[in-house]
Amino acid sequence: MVKIPVRVVDWDDIVNWSSGISDKIKRDEYKVDVIIAIARGGLVPARLVADALGVLDVISIKVEHWVQTANKDVEAKIKFPYKLDLKGGNVLIVDDICDTGDSLEIAKKFVSDNFNPGAIRTSTMQYIESTARIKPDYYAATITDWAWFMYPWNYWEDEINLIRKLLDNGVKTDIEHAFKDNYGVEPPIPVKDVLEEMKRRNLLNF
Ligand code: ADP
Repeated sequence: MVKIPVRVVDWDDIVNWSSGISDKIKRDEYKVDVIIAIARGGLVPARLVADALGVLDVISIKVEHWVQTANKDVEAKIKFPYKLDLKGGNVLIVDDICDTGDSLEIAKKFVSDNFNPGAIRTSTMQYIESTARIKPDYYAATITDWAWFMYPWNYWEDEINLIRKLLDNGVKTDIEHAFKDNYGVEPPIPVKDVLEEMKRRNLLNF
């Protein structure tokens, strides 16, 4: 009915993939002066990569993408653009995943046009080779078959969107079972808690 391949990512995966990025950068001897996290997905990995590399300057830009969980039609743009003088410092842009590559591409252009950087390199924890138009300079895991990855900082948002889809498709009872059946994974947060939260956010029409 609304079958979508979903994978639940845990904190160990995040730590391992972030180390995967920093290890490659060390091996490559790329000297990073400033890390730019793409908010919101790149915030946690950027902080971990900064720690592993000893980078003190971590800043952020918000790339807005009109994407709903597991829908792939998106248009990316910078929300809250600003100017900054990095005085030719080397930049590492960090995001969670390179799916289409749109966010990385727009972030790189924005940094180049507005931040006076030296070199700019890009990195993500995961790279989906079947969908991405560009390849990050550094990535930890290559994904061959597209799936929606539920990151631990996004469980609520993703589970709400995924349950919303089930409800919109007429699922009324046994949401746990329908979730497993359509998405192939157990919901990471108890469904009753998510329904309660949806009610609190006025997202339920019953
Ligand atoms: P990019 O490929 O440059 O990251 P996208 O526009 O494809 O840009 O993705 C934007 C953001 O949407 C990602 O940074 C991530 O937070 C989220 N996202 C996209 N695809 C997935 C996916 N398959 N699983 C989980 N999150 C995703």
